[in-house]
Amino acid sequence: MLVLILGGTAEARALAAELAPLPGLRVVSSLAGRVADPRLPEGEVRSGGFGGPDGLARWIAEHGPRVVVDATHPFAQRMSESAAHACAATGTPLLGLRRPGWSEGPEDVWLRVPSLRAAADALPGLGSRVFLTTGRRSLPVFAPLTGLWFLARSVDPPEPPVPANVHVILARGPYTVAGERALIGEHRLDVLVTKDSGGEQTRAKLVAAREAGLPVVMVDRPATPGGVPRVTDVADAVTWVRDHAG
Ligand code: NAP
Repeated sequence: MLVLILGGTAEARALAAELAPLPGLRVVSSLAGRVADPRLPEGEVRSGGFGGPDGLARWIAEHGPRVVVDATHPFAQRMSESAAHACAATGTPLLGLRRPGWSEGPEDVWLRVPSLRAAADALPGLGSRVFLTTGRRSLPVFAPLTGLWFLARSVDPPEPPVPANVHVILARGPYTVAGERALIGEHRLDVLVTKDSGGEQTRAKLVAAREAGLPVVMVDRPATPGGVPRVTDVADAVTWVRDHAG
């Protein structure tokens, strides 16, 4: 019984680790193949895009997974849309596994914005030394902001265009509050930009920003495809797979 996990997240790896040892299940995790040195899940792994919804539908028809779990990152909107279309077209049960977003506490100063573009528009009024944690492919959106200085953190190096005044650090979470506090102090950062990714691995920057009184520009999640059942934790996804793949 084949289970396809659309992955690239800690939750996807945790799900693969839970499912791989179960008797009668064969688990294939799919990665986009963009990170040079990805963390690999247990079980089988395939890598690279499917070629849009039609390509994924062909893959499903060829390999015959009993179920598909979309455990991609909350901002991987194209892959989630593609999965919804391909699973509907092939009649394959699909579950969305998506960790909850972050919520603002009383001492936080967050500005929620609907897009990266809106985050870039908001920045000039908020600070001049920006902690940018929205990923390497987001840097072109901030490139026109020539009057600001950026500390951009990403797993792999960004490609141009990038802001004129940018210092890039390559790192992969989980991060600690002490480490985030040190970065804020060392680089005299005065505003944080982040996507509402949720989860524990990258939450420390929000704690450090709160402590230091930094405003946070929080990019809201894109919409999820309608009609797809969703769970927020791995145990519930395991139960759903057992119920549907049996
Ligand atoms: P995206 O914009 O939704 O995807 C763009 C294209 O990449 C998709 O149309 C698909 O190509 C391919 N793709 C994405 N995820 C894939 C997967 N798991 N397996 C096979 N192909 C995949 O997604 P993204 O934001 O570029 O994210 C790419 C990967 O990085 C995802 O696996 C995601 O979980 C992970 N990730 C993303 C973020 C983020 O902030 N966006 C953060 C951490 C990890 P085809 O159309 O050709 O099938």
